[in-house]
Amino acid sequence: VTCLTCQKGCVLADGAFGWCHTRVNEGGRLYSLIYGEVAARSVNPIEKTPVYHFYPGSKWLSLGSVGCNFRCPGCQNWQCSHWLHGPMGTQYLSPGESVAVARGWQCAGLSWTFNEPAIWFEYTLEGAKSAKAEGLCTNYVTNGSLSRQAFELIAPYLDVYLVDVKAFSQRTYRALGHLLDYAEILEVAQRAKWQGLHVEVVTNVIPEINDSDEELYAIAGWINDNLGRDTPWHVTKFFPHHRLRHLPSTPIERLESACAIGNDVGLWYVYLGNVAGHPRESTCCHVCKEPLIRRHASDVLENRLIDGRCPACRSEIPGRF
Ligand code: SF4
Repeated sequence: VTCLTCQKGCVLADGAFGWCHTRVNEGGRLYSLIYGEVAARSVNPIEKTPVYHFYPGSKWLSLGSVGCNFRCPGCQNWQCSHWLHGPMGTQYLSPGESVAVARGWQCAGLSWTFNEPAIWFEYTLEGAKSAKAEGLCTNYVTNGSLSRQAFELIAPYLDVYLVDVKAFSQRTYRALGHLLDYAEILEVAQRAKWQGLHVEVVTNVIPEINDSDEELYAIAGWINDNLGRDTPWHVTKFFPHHRLRHLPSTPIERLESACAIGNDVGLWYVYLGNVAGHPRESTCCHVCKEPLIRRHASDVLENRLIDGRCPACRSEIPGRF
């Protein structure tokens, strides 16, 4: 059986598991082992994912399961995402129940995050349909590895596509995500933009892995040329974790120069993440530089937008407010 869910495109013999270990071929049929198996859930501001230009400060229900199709060596959620077999420590929550929980907490929507949502695709698809039917929004926090076919199925039910562009070289993608070719990640992100989803991009800047000027210029340039200069780019601080704990955390100066690179290629909104209190957490108007949204970590302290416009020069700010 060929699994068409993500870009790994595993071919599974009878009895075999896919690369993510969450799908198995039993007698010629492919089964998901994690449908509805929730390993982590919490209610957070959408900034936590991080998304900054979609109803800032709104509360969202975040859900994640176990397993991943990348298993990055420095993953911050590796306890869940590097699950292979054995006890999952999960709790079953049907798609309808997930929507009811979100409603109960007066959330604006559902985020699938913590691990890669593509690997419990069927669950996120049903959850997204239920959420939209109930008037909630949906946010896919992804490493970008949905196959084209899977993306086309779920796109009509998604509002936000927060894609992690980890690098801009085959070498780095191989080292981080065991992925041979990242071209489809870029293509699916472009499709998301063309189809009117709200798209933001995040890059965790890891010393010695993806922190060269060359790689950061390449990512920023691609965003500018293909998603548009109005697409927010988050460059976030890496903290040593798991199999990358021998590396240092990202120096602030490197993150600030990554922000400068983003602005240099033409991006309007480049944010510095995982450094609470840094001025680059906040939003300033891309035209007149008027401060618009003041943040601290994931909290919105002040929002001065009026009907989605800058109160000083009246320019329309990209996003939904
Ligand atoms: S979801 Fe991806 S990694 Fe998992 S079995 Fe399917 S193609 Fe392979």
